[in-house]
Amino acid sequence: MIYVHVPFCKSFCTYCGFYSELCGRSEKAFEAYTDRICAEIDSRREEIKASSREVDTLYFGGGTPSVLPPSCIRRIVEALPFPVGHAFREFTIEMNPDDVTAELITELRGIGANRISLGIQSFDDGILRWMNRRHTADAAVDAVKTIRACGIDNISIDLIFGLPQLEDGVWEKTLDKALELHPEHISAYQLSVEEGSALEKMIADGRFTEATQEQCRSQYDYLCARLRQAGYNHYEVSNFALPCHEAVHNGAYWSRAPYVGLGPGAHFFDGASRRSWNSEMEADGSWTPDSEELTDYDASVERIMLGLRTAAGIDASELKAIIGSCALQEALSKGLLVPASQQKTALRIPEDRFFVSDDIIRQLIP
Ligand code: SF4
Repeated sequence: MIYVHVPFCKSFCTYCGFYSELCGRSEKAFEAYTDRICAEIDSRREEIKASSREVDTLYFGGGTPSVLPPSCIRRIVEALPFPVGHAFREFTIEMNPDDVTAELITELRGIGANRISLGIQSFDDGILRWMNRRHTADAAVDAVKTIRACGIDNISIDLIFGLPQLEDGVWEKTLDKALELHPEHISAYQLSVEEGSALEKMIADGRFTEATQEQCRSQYDYLCARLRQAGYNHYEVSNFALPCHEAVHNGAYWSRAPYVGLGPGAHFFDGASRRSWNSEMEADGSWTPDSEELTDYDASVERIMLGLRTAAGIDASELKAIIGSCALQEALSKGLLVPASQQKTALRIPEDRFFVSDDIIRQLIP
């Protein structure tokens, strides 16, 4: 399981607090970045091979990987320690709809990409302008059609809810549009105010008022009901998939499979107790690794926190060992947890409480 972080964006979105660098068409910066990724691959060959034996996925995330020239993506893929033409079980590239062209998709498919994750966020042009996204609603629709026409039939789209602008039927229309495109996978995230984002300043200056919790809740409830009706499986708090299209790569993070992250800001995990991460890009374009050892307790807590965000839930005995049988009984009697399957060996947060899953997890593990 390999993640490559591409830390470049052509513009910054209003709500974004991710680490990313503003880029023009700086071929030199892209080539220098690619050289460093290839060198990092060279120094991590054994880790890469070991993590891929468990989950054979490759994911280019960002930032905006679609600003990186495909020749650079090809160099990175070819530097990985696999036979030429290795077909990953899932090879995803995140793209901005504005970057999608038939030529680019055909080239990426030739490199081995078999899944595209599109940062659509909204189908309302007013909201897209407010978000400072580069694309329009029509461009997003065209992008999905182009990707399909080029033969990639595993498409994920990202949407954002929790905006006051989504009231008066706008959210309903957004989901109508999304479902017309029949994406195999939908990730829907509630708008959050990230440190350092333009949104944080807008709120501080009184230029924007956040949606109320009631508005966010009703938008989330509508999302869940609408996607359920359309046949999507709500398999994680923010993720919905048509049958057999759950994200393999992201799903493996939630089950704590080992992964190798390459590039500035990327994270690594050995599947047991060692977690490492790269620094952000330094002024000279380099980055440096750092790491920590998790105790058994940390690892259990992490497994519980990740597992309780999923429909598959968490092993009941592990949860009991961490929170104790009284707290477990109380959570069951209040309906905060229910059996995740008929075997009752796993427990989950019921779907109608997913919206407050963070509160429930905090309550269980203070
Ligand atoms: S949301 Fe994505 S595209 Fe927008 S600035 Fe952040 S990383 Fe870049």
